[in-house]
Amino acid sequence: ATIAANEDIRRRIRTIPDFPKPGIQFRDITTLLLDGEGLSLTVERMLEQVEGPVDLVAGIEARGFVFAPALALALGAGVLLIRKDGKLPGATIAEDYALEYGTDRITIHADACAPGANVLLVDDLIATGGTARAAVRLLRKAGATVRQAAFVIDLPDLGGAAALRQDNISVTSLVA
Ligand code: AMP
Repeated sequence: ATIAANEDIRRRIRTIPDFPKPGIQFRDITTLLLDGEGLSLTVERMLEQVEGPVDLVAGIEARGFVFAPALALALGAGVLLIRKDGKLPGATIAEDYALEYGTDRITIHADACAPGANVLLVDDLIATGGTARAAVRLLRKAGATVRQAAFVIDLPDLGGAAALRQDNISVTSLVA
């Protein structure tokens, strides 16, 4: 599906200016999720873009958690939760990434994926790519094979998708 063909998805995404701080145009998918047709179109089109075998769909907390199970159920795959620091009860491995001010940390359980498991990474939106690139490093550190990352929204001006492609990831999205 081309980006133009996803106008039906684009118009269901709300933009909130100056959230969470001045100058940020927040792309709010809650309006898309509230709409049953919008939700199913989104999941269908994300599924059409999936390439190759998938053993696990890894969702990034929190909005990646909405799409990961929907894709996983259709693909016959499991769900791997990539969580913010301090949330997982078992032994974890972590990866840090830079924010505008300071750093953030994501974690997974150390035994979450078998070596060589084919993992599809999912989040609602890619901006600078800092979060998704850290997720790829983390999954690869855990022994996963990560070849694709799927997003609903790409903000191409921020360069995240291009950077992720440099990490040998096939990046797909529905709207830019
Ligand atoms: P980044 O690490 O810069 O690619 O940012 C991606 C993460 O931050 C994703 O989990 C998004 O949900 C969130 N995010 C970043 N920018 C926006 C935005 N303009 N609107 C909504 N969510 C955003």
